[in-house]
Amino acid sequence: MPQRRMNTTVTRTQVGIIGAGPAGLLVGNLLLQAGVDCIIVEQQSRDYIEHRTRAGLIEHWVVDFLRSYGLADRLLREGRTQSSCEFRYHKRRFSLTYSSLYGDRTHYVYPQQELVKDLVASFLNAGGDLRFETSALDVSAPTTITPAIHTSTGDIVCDLVAGCDGFYGITRPSLPASAFTTFEKEQGFRWLALLAAAPPSTDQPIYALHEHGFAGHMLRSSTVSRFYLQCLTNDSIDDWPDERIWLELETRFTVEEPWSLTRGPIIEKNFLDLRSFVCEPMQYGQVYLAGDAAHIISPAGGKGMNLALADAAVFVEGVRAFYEHNDDTKLLSYSQRCLPRIWRAQEFSQWMLSIMLSPTPGQPDAAFMHQLQIARLERLRSSRTAAASFAQNYIGYDLVLGFSADGADLSSPDTPGAPV
Ligand code: FAD
Repeated sequence: MPQRRMNTTVTRTQVGIIGAGPAGLLVGNLLLQAGVDCIIVEQQSRDYIEHRTRAGLIEHWVVDFLRSYGLADRLLREGRTQSSCEFRYHKRRFSLTYSSLYGDRTHYVYPQQELVKDLVASFLNAGGDLRFETSALDVSAPTTITPAIHTSTGDIVCDLVAGCDGFYGITRPSLPASAFTTFEKEQGFRWLALLAAAPPSTDQPIYALHEHGFAGHMLRSSTVSRFYLQCLTNDSIDDWPDERIWLELETRFTVEEPWSLTRGPIIEKNFLDLRSFVCEPMQYGQVYLAGDAAHIISPAGGKGMNLALADAAVFVEGVRAFYEHNDDTKLLSYSQRCLPRIWRAQEFSQWMLSIMLSPTPGQPDAAFMHQLQIARLERLRSSRTAAASFAQNYIGYDLVLGFSADGADLSSPDTPGAPV
């Protein structure tokens, strides 16, 4: 347990936000715009979080939402839209133009660290209090009207706490474990997540199923590409020198017609242990968990950051109702409103893994499982219904804030933009 500092200074605010990732920064920006006083504490430096490379695929509704709050100017200028993706298996390929199957909605390709830069700048420009290199140590008195965040530089006493501090943060462990049910799945696979200073070799992401394992080619910018390679859980970085990586990518992406992979220096090489996790509920007393602090998801499908931003938007709607109308019903139902979207994304991500991950070598049903994967891919290729379902889940359905008069949740419509 970390030690609290003696003689701490105490600051009072309405909402204390732990973590300046996408979730915490969106909460902070929206609260400032709504005139709600808040403080963000972030354990890392500004430079660190503004260069931490992670996600890059932003859902359509997120961009619309950010634009409506004036937070998407650079994203709209510099991001590029993505409306199709490609699947490869047995040296064949097919492209799926998904946006035409879901209201012409597209993804935006814009690296997470660029969005973080934009949100940091807008928060600070609006006079926000963002304390870098300040670690939250724990949260106390969560069920009282004055919960407190104890940090490395002092205490912050608030009305509400937003725990946006990621999977390894301190907010969730500060709360009683018995207050939560957790759902967890270890996928039993690792991905080698790579960034290469190489222009993309494709104009759409490639998902390749190969007997050696999955390979993915995601877009990031005109000079940088992200790649994923499925590998064994006991592999180490030393097992993957750059030359082996390029050869393996070339092998797994092979198609019958001419196609070449553009190589470049590998600038980042990390293992991702594929794991899925959801914590229910996502709140306890006056403390609310958002983003990776409450749930993590495999990168298959590109959902993690988008879910974090959805939680932030739903939370702030509740906070606004609380301060503007003295109405806490939206805050009380925060978890109920977030969880259907989270579970739907988990289901989609699990389905993506089911078509992409090669069975473990030696697994007795490996041949059978592989045939199922081919059947799923063939269905995706040939069935408009299957493709339309994929499109809706991949692009992400719109976030409709609010409940109907009879209390029905409107946050998961099947038709873009229109609650059902
Ligand atoms: P984080 O971004 O983790 O932010 C939490 C913040 O809290 C951090 O800045 C951390 O430093 C800070 N913090 C932690 N503890 C403390 C403390 N004690 N005190 C103060 N601050 C603290 N998602 C997608 O949607 N699309 C993609 O294409 C995609 N690709 C990905 C690729 C990779 C390689 C990885 C790793 C992730 C990817 N994701 C993707 C997932 C996405 O990056 C995360 O879901 C997203 O960052 C979650 O945002 P967050 O704000 O909840 O948490």
